[in-house]
Amino acid sequence: MSVTISIDAVPTGIFVAACYDATGDAVEIVRAEGYEAAVALASEHKTVCEDCATYGILASPVMDVEGFEVNLANTNARQLGATIDFDFGDDLYGACDPADLLGAVLIALAQEHTPIERYESRTSIFGVGARVIDCGFDATNYLSRIADLCVEAQRLGREVTWG
Ligand SMILES: [Zn+2]
Repeated sequence: MSVTISIDAVPTGIFVAACYDATGDAVEIVRAEGYEAAVALASEHKTVCEDCATYGILASPVMDVEGFEVNLANTNARQLGATIDFDFGDDLYGACDPADLLGAVLIALAQEHTPIERYESRTSIFGVGARVIDCGFDATNYLSRIADLCVEAQRLGREVTWG
């Protein structure tokens, strides 16, 4: 499970259906008003694409604000929140004024916040053979990206959400 921190966005009503090229990058094949219209338009693509014919085509909503998302594993989000003294809530779901989160992030960065480094090894839950190594993560990378996200949310007059 993971948590995505993002700027509160509103759906535009536009949906995009995508396929993937040989390198695995998403390639837009249809853009239309409404999910059903996008899937209907994309059905022609199924006649020339074995993957989409087999697995189907999903259309994704286009939001009015995109980008800036920061995704963390639940465990990392909890540790990051504890480290910067910001409460993401027990269920890791919520919203706030971007100034609140930005303040906590900037204080952590100004204090030359020590990156969260966890180098632990533990035996797998199966108890034999496999060993799980938790390499931790560098919180400063996330903090910089969250700061950028908060600044953009303030510029747009939107809340920051996570969940
Ligand atoms: Zn396809």
